Amino acid sequence: MNIFRVTAIALTALIAGAGPGAADDYPSRAITMIVPFAAGGPTDVVARIMAEGMRHSLGQQVIIENVTGAAGSIAVGKAARAAPDGYTLSIGHWSTHVVNGAIYSLPYDLLTDLAPVSLLVSNPQLIVANPKVPAADVKSLVEWIKANPGKVSAGTAGAGSASHIGGIYFQNFSKTDFLFVPYRGTGPAMQDLISGQLQIMLDQSSNSLPQVQAKQIKAYAVTSKTRLSVAPDIPTVDEAGLPGFYISVWHGLWVPKDTPKPIVDKLAVAVRAALADPATQKRLLELGQEIPPVNQQNPAALAAFQKAEIEKWWPLIKAANIKLD
Ligand code: ASP
Repeated sequence: MNIFRVTAIALTALIAGAGPGAADDYPSRAITMIVPFAAGGPTDVVARIMAEGMRHSLGQQVIIENVTGAAGSIAVGKAARAAPDGYTLSIGHWSTHVVNGAIYSLPYDLLTDLAPVSLLVSNPQLIVANPKVPAADVKSLVEWIKANPGKVSAGTAGAGSASHIGGIYFQNFSKTDFLFVPYRGTGPAMQDLISGQLQIMLDQSSNSLPQVQAKQIKAYAVTSKTRLSVAPDIPTVDEAGLPGFYISVWHGLWVPKDTPKPIVDKLAVAVRAALADPATQKRLLELGQEIPPVNQQNPAALAAFQKAEIEKWWPLIKAANIKLD
């Protein structure tokens, strides 16, 4: 190896902050968390709660940047290309950091171009509808969809997003067919569900629950084995006649690969501190979010879980032959 190459490697390491004590003064300025969907939607809400919680232990602002499009894959690409210095974080979920790899030809590798920081919260979806939809329960909703071919639209956060995959799963499960309308997140899709331009949605509880509680939309079922403690009136899919139709949308936090380990560890500590904070916990639990056990709030647990999820979902998603927008 010639001297220039050695110097170049040493310089790269220095710029990446990999030298001794690299994390000592980290963070010394604001950190950006890239949210892969529109403001006001489920991932954005989790990101803002986490950013606020992490700010306390990091001693710096965590600023949210919404980068939308292509079901979050543009945002994750931007984060993967960012400097590995701990100042750019990639928040995402089951679809952005697992599903997208099976349906888009991504210019980055979900496992090797990003380094996991920690698993975050997970929430089920709700099967929701505009209040004018005449069906009173899931069984009559299925009948109503079948009786109205070409007239029922469901909002999604883009091809491959959790709301889209949930919708396809619902179609398969209930043997129904309806239209999918892509948005830059289910935040904006929610506006159209409330106004009646959309009839139904498979949406994360964190986005839908406040609207259900405000009676702007109605909920038929929650896609989990147990009812949400914060919304005990909503039946589970088992109770509602779709036994086993479970969907859990988990979130996680990553940084660009090559981010120095002491910085990753500091971020993971900040995540744990936020998730242990009673005020943060309250906000998350009110949205139907579940906090992972403390022993899963670390880089290794997210690495193992993401890999297992890729192995589980990619064959299923590839077989479903999902079309891009
Ligand atoms: N997480 C997306 C959002 O924040 C929704 C989805 O994936 O369905 O809009």
